[in-house]
Amino acid sequence: MKVRRTRYLRRGRPRAVLFTGAAGFVGSHLADRLLDDGYRVIAVDNLITGSEKNLEHLHDHPRFRFIEHDISEPLEIRERLDWVMHFASPASPPKYLKWPLETMRANSTGTHLLLELAREHRARFFLASTSEVYGDPKQHPQPEDYWGNVNPLGPRSVYDEAKRYAEALAMSYHREFELPLRIIRIFNTYGPRMDPHDGRVVTNFIRQALANEPLTVYGDGSQTRSLQHIDDLVEGVARYMKVEDPGPINLGNPEECTVLELARLILELTGSDSDIVFEPLPENDPTRRRPDIERARKLLGWSPKIGMREGLERTIDSFATTAAPAEPLTAARTAQA
Ligand code: NAD
Ligand code: UDP
Repeated sequence: MKVRRTRYLRRGRPRAVLFTGAAGFVGSHLADRLLDDGYRVIAVDNLITGSEKNLEHLHDHPRFRFIEHDISEPLEIRERLDWVMHFASPASPPKYLKWPLETMRANSTGTHLLLELAREHRARFFLASTSEVYGDPKQHPQPEDYWGNVNPLGPRSVYDEAKRYAEALAMSYHREFELPLRIIRIFNTYGPRMDPHDGRVVTNFIRQALANEPLTVYGDGSQTRSLQHIDDLVEGVARYMKVEDPGPINLGNPEECTVLELARLILELTGSDSDIVFEPLPENDPTRRRPDIERARKLLGWSPKIGMREGLERTIDSFATTAAPAEPLTAARTAQA
């Protein structure tokens, strides 16, 4: 591992990052952080699951530029790039089930084109992968050297296998061309600016609780997830940019809970009178998930700082002020769409 001194300038000019998926939940927070850290940000997004609203506050920023573009199509960038950071992909299960081929393309063709762009610019490549590469894990918690248990033909494979392919392709570029690479595997992350209708568990439960609608627990709610607040993820990414190591590195919060416990906690924190109802479990829904974060601790000196209760309180506050009523999106409905 080599730790680089932080240098945001190259020959007196701010270093430039091409950031895909910037109008999404995670991407918009990272765009803020990169600008705060002195980078120039060229944000690319086709708005399939993101929203320009997430970037509204940056439009007049002198080091920010937005390009509406589908990264599965070639993109020519004339100005010098120092980083290509690839975060564009539908990420919520109902959304990637609604757009299966778009999801596969964003992570396969999209990753390939962006790796070529990085190579052409001699830029560093940063790939947002996912805990879904572990599938329904037989090893618990999941360290980075666990190979996973993924159904290659199941409905979730459009996301899981596409991300696994993206990792494999990025590693090939790293080996063949010595392309400087960082791969992160992000575990369930939540926070302000999530689309309240993206169908993920935190957004569904908070939106339902605030509207006094029933909270929809899929299956018996005994499946577990480990939830990370967005601010911790952003800190992990910023630290990793300074460390020369291809990874992969898990970024997640090991605080694990069942989905039913999460529903009860959100009811408590919102003070909602909503009931809990049980709905069918989506196919191949992982039964448990918790990151082993030893590698991130050692390489980045990083560990999450925001506990679930505090993080959810902050997120509930942000939803209470911004969530607009609209059609709820459930896994069952989008699977039929
Ligand atoms: P999101 O849906 O809010 O953001 C994804 C963004 O990518 C959206 O703005 C969308 O419009 C854009 N996009 C998708 N396909 C595109 C294409 N072909 N061209 C251009 N833009 C495109 O999701 P998110 O939660 O912010 O996830 C961001 C990244 O982090 C994804 O790569 C996702 O796989 C990864 N990730 C997120 C989580 C999480 O819990 N949030 C967990 C694991 C991995
Ligand atoms: N889930 C649920 N009710 C919902 C949405 C999701 O019980 O309204 C469950 C889902 O079946 C899964 C967990 O919550 O077991 C996390 O789902 P999410 O879609 O947030 O992300 P995943 O980790 O499955 O990608």
